[in-house]
Amino acid sequence: MATFEELLERWDGEQAVIRRDRESGGWIFICMHSTKLGPAAGGTRMKVYATPADGLEDAMRLSAGMTSKLAVADLGLGGGKAVLAVPQIPQGEDRRALLRRYGDVVASLGGNFITSSDVNTGEEDMDVIAERTDYVFGRTEASGGAGDPGPFTAVGVFHGILATVAHAFGSRDLAGRTVLVQGVGSVGGALAELLSGQGAAVIVADVDADRAQALATAIGGSTVEAEAALETECDVYAPCALGGTLSAATVSRLRCRIVAGSANNQLAHPEVAELLRDANILYAPDYVINAGGAIAINFLELNGRSRADVDVALANIGNTLSEIYERAEEEGITTAAAADAVAGSRLSEARPRAHSPHAD
Ligand code: NAD
Repeated sequence: MATFEELLERWDGEQAVIRRDRESGGWIFICMHSTKLGPAAGGTRMKVYATPADGLEDAMRLSAGMTSKLAVADLGLGGGKAVLAVPQIPQGEDRRALLRRYGDVVASLGGNFITSSDVNTGEEDMDVIAERTDYVFGRTEASGGAGDPGPFTAVGVFHGILATVAHAFGSRDLAGRTVLVQGVGSVGGALAELLSGQGAAVIVADVDADRAQALATAIGGSTVEAEAALETECDVYAPCALGGTLSAATVSRLRCRIVAGSANNQLAHPEVAELLRDANILYAPDYVINAGGAIAINFLELNGRSRADVDVALANIGNTLSEIYERAEEEGITTAAAADAVAGSRLSEARPRAHSPHAD
């Protein structure tokens, strides 16, 4: 198991802030992977880890993913991520007290790190953090925030699926196409409704069987057992639950032409992108197709842009994916490599920015 020193030594990010939170028995990790394109932005994940180093490693890995995601989304933001590694998920006043202490750490970074919600944190938690710092987004609508990012993410994934279907089948028409949505929570539920509204046959799978059945009934779709999702025949497999579902072991079980969903870190290893290509499965790179929530929060809370502007930007996720597919074909590389190349060129073209986010 790696130590903090080993993790810091091999990480390619700019700055990691580590605070032992004695009051909760936990740790606060804020990783600013890159500020080349702007302040490091990323969600705050609250989670129980086997060791504190596992929490730091998670924050490092996720912050690198945010750098790529925000570079491709072209939002003038760098990549970061925070992890609150706790012995158990706190509730009530203990939770609020932890979030306020964390808010003080975010405030101390003077705007070089800005955050929003992630696994196990939500809009109400962002309101608490906002008691201590202005650099928090995704607050409740009552507090002037944009609310739950899930439905915005779903709209972005929907446009991404249309563009991916168009590339694979020559038409973006969803009538007669079958889409399997794995995980029908905040993103997957809204996505399933949008797809069904455009005439797709939607199959839903969720470990919460009642939730899956209720949604299928509401949209006139069908269900499969959560364990059967990967082997189910469909045109589009949309992973909207957990990351890491695509591995050497699972790609051979897929019976779809497209993988396009919201889950973060869908590829268990980078090489899985090549296995997908070899199996003639068109993969929509996860961090490109799932950027809708980040885009919407940034537009509405940080830049004062309108809902109409958000709609245009979410639709543009489809155009970005089309360009990535064309580039992948022209250069003979995987779609994941083509997305990384877009992110890499944005980062290498970036001009050095002034240290303070207020400078411009
Ligand atoms: P959520 O917690 O609201 O929903 C997840 C759903 O998946 C739940 O209904 C849960 O029961 C189900 N699920 C869990 N394990 C499953 C399994 N093994 N098989 C089938 N279903 C399973 O989460 P969400 O906000 O909808 O996010 C879904 C995914 O998208 C996550 O990977 C998240 O990191 C990613 N993502 C979300 C957003 C956002 O704006 N919410 C943005 C970017 C990426």
